[in-house]
Amino acid sequence: MIKSLRSGAELATVARNAAADLADASAQEILHWAAEEFGSGLAVTASMQDTVLVHLASKALPGIDVLFLETGYHFIETTGTADAVEAVYDVSLRRLLPLQTVEQQDAQYGKDLFARDPDLCCALRKVAPLNKALKDYEAWATGVRRVESPTRANTPVVTFDAKRGRIKIAPLAAWTDDDVDAYIAEHNVLVNPLLSAEYPSIGCEPCTRRVLPGQDSRAGRWAGLAKTECGINI
Ligand code: SF4
Repeated sequence: MIKSLRSGAELATVARNAAADLADASAQEILHWAAEEFGSGLAVTASMQDTVLVHLASKALPGIDVLFLETGYHFIETTGTADAVEAVYDVSLRRLLPLQTVEQQDAQYGKDLFARDPDLCCALRKVAPLNKALKDYEAWATGVRRVESPTRANTPVVTFDAKRGRIKIAPLAAWTDDDVDAYIAEHNVLVNPLLSAEYPSIGCEPCTRRVLPGQDSRAGRWAGLAKTECGINI
C-alpha cells in the first residue's frame, strides 16, 4: 500500500484526463496505464465469477491486491475459486470481512436479513467493508461490463468516484460475452464452476438464481425484487 494518497481534487483531474485518453483503449492498455499511474495504490475487486480481470491485472501489476468480499453467504464454488486464485495467480488476495458475522447480524437484525431488507444486508456485508478497504488505495478496477444489464450500459472506462474519493476503472467495460469467453479459452483462466450451470452472474447464494434462456445475465440476482445492484458499483 502506498504511504500518502493524492487528494480527491488531484485524483479527479487524473480521472478526467485518463477518461478522454483511454476511452477506446484495450483492457491491457488501461491496466498498464493504471499500474504505472497508481502502483501499489491500485487494487482490483473480484466477485470470483470468472477471473479474467484478475488475470489481466496480475500481468499488468504482479502482486496486485485483489479485494474479495467475504460476505458469509457465498456458494462453496465461489470461495473455492477465491482459494484457487490465491494459490495460482501472482496476486495478493485480501478477504474483506463485514463488521459482524452472519450469526451476530442475525442476533441484531433477525434471521435472513437478505430476504427482508437486502439493501441493508448488502450495505453491511459488501458496501461498508469495500469502502473501508478502499481508503488504502487511490484507484480500484472492477470487472463491470456494459452488456451485463441496462443499469451498466453507460459504464465509463475511468471515472472519479466522488462518493469514495477514489478513481474507479472498468477495463472490461466494452467487452462482450464473446470477448470474455474467448479470453477464458485462450488463457485458460480460472472460472467459477457455477458459470456452466446456468448462473451467468454469481453473487451470494440466497440472492442468486439460475437464468432462463433469453434473460439478461443479471436476471438471477435478487430475482423477484426491484433490486439490481448491491451498491458497490453504483
Ligand atoms: Fe446479503 Fe444478498 Fe447482499 Fe449477499 S447479496 S450481502 S446475502 S443481500
